[in-house]
Parts: sequence; structure tokens; C-alpha cells
Amino acid sequence: MELWFSEMQSKNVKMSYKIKNLLHSEKTKFQNLAVIDSEEFGRMLILDDVVQLTMKDEFIYHEMMAHVPLFTHGSPERVLVIGGGDGGTLREILKHPVKEAHLVEIDEKVIEASKRFFPELSVAFDDPRAKIFCEDGIAYVKRFKNYYDVIIVDSTDPVGPAVGLFRKEFYKDIFDALTEKGVFVAQTESPFYYEGLLKEVYNCIAEIFPYAAVYTAVIPTYPGALWTFTIGSKQVDPSDKANVPESCNFKTRYYTPEIHKACFKIPPFIKEILSK
Ligand code: SAM
Repeated sequence: MELWFSEMQSKNVKMSYKIKNLLHSEKTKFQNLAVIDSEEFGRMLILDDVVQLTMKDEFIYHEMMAHVPLFTHGSPERVLVIGGGDGGTLREILKHPVKEAHLVEIDEKVIEASKRFFPELSVAFDDPRAKIFCEDGIAYVKRFKNYYDVIIVDSTDPVGPAVGLFRKEFYKDIFDALTEKGVFVAQTESPFYYEGLLKEVYNCIAEIFPYAAVYTAVIPTYPGALWTFTIGSKQVDPSDKANVPESCNFKTRYYTPEIHKACFKIPPFIKEILSK
């Protein structure tokens, strides 16, 4: 008998994956967590029936979450990830010569599952520069002023504990927690299925930060595939080519300086969403 996992990508669209095995399933304090081995995309981390990552395409999302803001800053020493308990974004941050990389994940079970099933991602937790905190990122960030050079919000969709990660008060706290050249980025979902949210987050960031921009990447297992990231910056214009490095001296599979320049070229239909 064939086994399939289906994700409701919107109320009217379902994406299905043929699976080999269900490797793990549990109900944590915050969400339902499952690890599935799929035919096409390899191992997949699923939270509340939503695909968080797959071994075949995780590099695209994690490289774009980390390298665009870190290179935009230019010389970050202290970096914070909020969410991201799988370790993928942290792994990419640690390719840079940062002094400290902190991660605040609300659900310790996500970290445990990553250590058990995704060693390629959780390898980051063993780096001596990494510090992991298991608590709500919204409360955590309020305790810092002028402290982090880059803050990355690697969150689940805006439901449950992640709702507050898409609110203006939170972005103001992030602004305060950043140093004077600070850079912030958040994953801001699909322009097809989360149009309203993208527009709202972009407008909040543009009100709070001197510079705000949206960039995109194509991630096959995220709804609609075309994915958005919204970046805010205190001093440096992220979409200015002058702030893109000439070369990247570590191995990547998606990110390159050319991709960095190109990712800010957004199509008219997204520009329309942002300006509505
Ligand atoms: N790359 C993924 C995506 O876009 O689907 C996100 C991956 S990562 C697993 C998201 C993490 O954010 C989850 O592990 C979740 O527990 C965590 N999270 C949700 N709300 C949070 C909060 N308020 N504070 C800290 N972590 C939170």
C-alpha cells in the first residue's frame, strides 16, 4: 500500500508527498511534530502538518536567511536567531567569522528531533560560538538593547506561538535590541497565499527601520514555491549592490554574490502588494 503525506498549502490547495516511512511523531507542549522519510525530498520535518524543511531543498531557505543579512551588515560579531530550532540557519551563520551566534527556540522538542534525525543541520549546536535558549523569542528580545548586530526570525507560519513574531511591537523590540548598524530579516511567507501578511510586515518594517526591502528565493516545498524574506536595516541599504560581497569564501549551494544582487529584483505583482 502506498503512503502519502498531504499538506494543505491553502484552504483550496493540497500538496502530497509519497512517503517511505513515518520516523517519528509526538505532541509537544506547543505543536504536533513529525519526521517523515519521503521518496522525492528525503527526510522532512513537519510541525502541525506543515512542512518546515526537507533534506533536498533546505539549503536554499537557510542560505538565503543567513547570508543576505550577514553580508549586508558586513562585519557582524553577535547574531541572534529566533525560532529555527532545526539548526539550519545557525549552521549557515557559523560559516561567517562571527564571535557568538545565539538561538532562541520556544520548543525544545524541535531541537531534540533535529539532533536525532537531522545531523546535517544540528551539527551547528556543537559549535563553541553557539548558545541555545529554550524560551519564547518575543519575551527574550525585550531584555536586550543595542546588543545584536543581526537578528533573524526563522519562524513557523503566523499561528500559535508564532503569531506575535509577525507583530509591530515585536519588530520595535528587535530594532532596540540591534546595534547601530543592525540588520534584521524575517521569513514572510508566500506572496500568493499570504499577500496581506507580506504587505503588513513590510509596512511595519518600513515604518520602524530607515531601510526596508523584500527579497525572494524559490523553495519547492514551501507553498507556491516563490518565497519572500523581509529585511530591515539601520544604516546600510540592503538592496544596494555596493553592500554585496565580491566573493563568498565558503561553500554554498544556492547563495552567490550574483544571487544576492538578483534576489532584490522583485516582480511587479509583488511591488503592487507592497505598495497597496
Ligand atoms: N523554515 C521554517 C519554515 O519557514 O517553515 C521554519 C523552521 S523552524 C522549525 C520554526 C521554529 O519556530 C519552530 O521550531 C517553532 O517552535 C519556533 N517558534 C515558533 N514560535 C516561536 C516563538 N514565539 N519563539 C521562539 N521560537 C518560536
